[in-house]
Amino acid sequence: MVAAAALHDPVPLTSVPLTSRPADELLGGLLKQQRAASLEAGPPSLEQRLEDLERLRRVLLENQENFAAAISKDFGHRSRHETLISEIFVSLEGIKHMRRNLAEWMSPERRWVSMLFFPGRSQVVYQPVGVVGVIAPWNFPVQLALLPVATALAAGNRVMLKPSEYTPATSALLKEALGRAFPDDKVAVVLGGPEVGAAFSRLAFDHLLFTGSTSVGKKIMQAAAENLVPVTLELGGKSPFIVDDSFSMERAAGSLVTGKLTNAGQICIAPDYALVPEGRSDELVASLQREVGRRYPTMLNNPDYTSIVNHRHYERLRHLLSDAQQKGGRLVEVNPGGERFDDESKHKLPLTLVLNPTEDMAVMQDEIFGPILPVVSYRTLDEAIGYVNARPRPLALYLFSDDEQRQQRVLERTTSGGVCINETLLHVAQEDLPFGGIGASGMGAYHGREGFLAMSHKKPVFHQARWNGTALMKPPYGPRLERLLKFMLR
Ligand code: NAD
Repeated sequence: MVAAAALHDPVPLTSVPLTSRPADELLGGLLKQQRAASLEAGPPSLEQRLEDLERLRRVLLENQENFAAAISKDFGHRSRHETLISEIFVSLEGIKHMRRNLAEWMSPERRWVSMLFFPGRSQVVYQPVGVVGVIAPWNFPVQLALLPVATALAAGNRVMLKPSEYTPATSALLKEALGRAFPDDKVAVVLGGPEVGAAFSRLAFDHLLFTGSTSVGKKIMQAAAENLVPVTLELGGKSPFIVDDSFSMERAAGSLVTGKLTNAGQICIAPDYALVPEGRSDELVASLQREVGRRYPTMLNNPDYTSIVNHRHYERLRHLLSDAQQKGGRLVEVNPGGERFDDESKHKLPLTLVLNPTEDMAVMQDEIFGPILPVVSYRTLDEAIGYVNARPRPLALYLFSDDEQRQQRVLERTTSGGVCINETLLHVAQEDLPFGGIGASGMGAYHGREGFLAMSHKKPVFHQARWNGTALMKPPYGPRLERLLKFMLR
């Protein structure tokens, strides 16, 4: 139980630089403050939650250009249009869906009652869990921070957010804009890197949603286990892109370019590698050359094409390419303008295909997270399915096939976080579908109703009626109960 004094003695915790006090103490104080405020105020009404979501909507609308500029500064260059679509519009759509459905999601749900307990009533009530922690990554620094925050608020919780240190301008703007829209004891933003993240994940939240890499996800779960904090882990992985034998390569390549070059491939659900029927790799290369040429006649100074976020990731991706080349891979650069990508200050990389990849290449082991695409050949669809199943379960799977039986076979025989058929990425934009991984790609899901449920306590409540049959089961036991038991134990 939190002492009531904590509520009446608020310290402006988020304005204290994290270096001035041990992070654990500082963050612990903030959590205490939020929990006390939550207990004092009780669960927010529907109207209050709609108002909170409206405030968040205004943060997005009023700061859209500032967010676009901040993200671009953080990345070196991020297409303004990509930011407006994938950060602002996608978040607004998510919030709109929550606002539209919240009354229904919040309503207690009547459940079936056995005749034996009639006329008692059973229901499930959806209660805020309390204080939710959110740790966000850098690749979509607004959407992946604000959609979890919106979900937590819709479910009636207080929320503490730790955005990524890799996007300092965006994270500072998030802190400032959210600080203006909400008091610290409702939404608080904590800035810092892995050490602050580690201290954050040790807090006794009522739920913790982490979006980031699988390796850090393991640390988060370990830290959360100490306080038995339930977690939603939104992780990454190697998502396959499978083209069925009879499918048009031109059509598949169109979706592949969207999935692989939006945000320069720095997307958790970007197609990681392609599985194409034997003998059709050259067709894929030619189709990609044409499609990339249409969309990005040049890339280096093209405002529509995003940079690699920083030097570390730029070097990591270049190393993946040199490693693949050294190990016998054939690299095909898709570079329509014939530009030289040796200006390291721009951190831009063209799409590069790795043909004949082998298992010992780093590009076949680690999540790529950039514009590099290994192309693997398969002979039969079952061989492609076996290839996917021999690896950790991916976050997304993309299948390009018009044959319903073959679609069904892939759906039934593979397990991935989500699936898109004849398209890339867009399953994530379906507001009424849950989004999350499985196995190494994550645990739990959010978006829409599933997010509301993940951050609510689904509390079962039984209401006993004044007159009911349970008195028959009380001692002293006698012949009436004997007759009843005969009926019950048939
Ligand atoms: P990351 O795991 O390096 O960092 C994510 C967040 O965790 C950051 O805020 C970071 O400061 C924090 N952090 C780092 N070390 C920590 C620690 N020891 N304890 C607690 N917190 C710590 O990931 P990233 O590089 O920012 O993002 C890229 C990864 O995220 C990719 O693997 C990608 O697939 C994944 N991702 C997944 C989704 C999804 O929805 N499933 C979305 C975007 C990105």
